[in-house]
Amino acid sequence: MISSVLPTYSRAPLHFVKGEGCWLIEEDGRRFLDMGAGIAVNCLGHAHPALVAALTEQANKIWHLSNLYEIPQQQELADKLVAATFADTVFFTNSGTESCELAVKMARKYWYEKGQPEKTDIVTFTGSFHGRSSAGIAAAGSEKMIKGFGPILPGFIHVDWADHDALTAAITDTVGAILIEPVQGEGGIRPLPDQCLKGLRDLCDEKGILLILDEVQCGMGRTGKLFAHEWAGVEPDIMMVAKGIGGGFPLGAVLATEEAASGMTVGTHGSTYGGNPLACAVGSAVMDHVADPNFLAQVNRVAGTLRQRLEGLVAAHPDVFEEVRGSGLMLGLKCRKPNADVVKVGYAVELITVPAADNVIRLLPPLTLTEDEAAEAVNRLDAAAQSLS
Ligand SMILES: *Cc1c(COP(=O)(O)O)cnc(C)c1O
Repeated sequence: MISSVLPTYSRAPLHFVKGEGCWLIEEDGRRFLDMGAGIAVNCLGHAHPALVAALTEQANKIWHLSNLYEIPQQQELADKLVAATFADTVFFTNSGTESCELAVKMARKYWYEKGQPEKTDIVTFTGSFHGRSSAGIAAAGSEKMIKGFGPILPGFIHVDWADHDALTAAITDTVGAILIEPVQGEGGIRPLPDQCLKGLRDLCDEKGILLILDEVQCGMGRTGKLFAHEWAGVEPDIMMVAKGIGGGFPLGAVLATEEAASGMTVGTHGSTYGGNPLACAVGSAVMDHVADPNFLAQVNRVAGTLRQRLEGLVAAHPDVFEEVRGSGLMLGLKCRKPNADVVKVGYAVELITVPAADNVIRLLPPLTLTEDEAAEAVNRLDAAAQSLS
């Protein structure tokens, strides 16, 4: 008999009842060090007092209005995002997938309004992940995600990650945009080198097409800058955000330049819940912390120590681990043993990590991770690796 919850997930037999900072407490009292943060979501850890206060304060006033009316919390968060980034304007969604939907619609509408309606194609990359909607799975194009779900939304051209010639050849007259994650998350923590992101920006400028960045996983301070593309010193035209921006409350956003957003006029897009007062009150509190240069400096310091310790771990267990990769607190350990086994022995030593493609385990801790917690995470990984050797 089918389970009452649609059985699409493979769940670990863990029952967490409470979270405190970087720690998750199991029903039986065990304390797990959370190096997954709900897949890069709980950027300020669990039950951060500022987020709890923002949420409960707003909950006592008003939960939901409708975008039929002014929502001051939405305005406030949009102003903060515009002030801190390349963007001139923001649309709020509830998830990364919804942000992908709008990014695709915005790019197509842009070209339609420019009198070049043929420019509907978007170039994307193998190993990418952009969500589970019809556009999201078509954009990523992996066999695993699209099989059985046809007809697949047309208009995506998939290019091999790092194949420059294929990329140049793919930019034909029907291409209106390039869509890429600056650091692939689900694909196995594969960072795009800064010079490649610069090259993509140049290519888009040369061809006069839009650059869309998916920073759903790598954004909101995860790499040690507010957004990952800042490391390369370039700016996108459109950017998808979600995960960390709500700190655990469902919230997503699409950020864009005035030019790229110019097709999105009254009535062209909308959302019932998108930008609701609760989500935006929390998002605003998240921004106050994560956009602070002192906070980001601390993220970079801890990330530096964590990475150094992980390099030592890999050197100590060459039969279990192959390499460390990633950026900031978005780190991957490429495994020699099956990554699912490494995640599982992690549970035995009360450590949470997240598997990804390419036989990688991801370390995506709360950005509030301390030096001591970073050291403890590596100690636990060391114990886990010993049990696999
Ligand atoms: C998680 C993720 C998405 C999808 O976000 P949801 O909130 O799960 O819809 C899209 N793109 C990237 C890069 C992601 O990591």
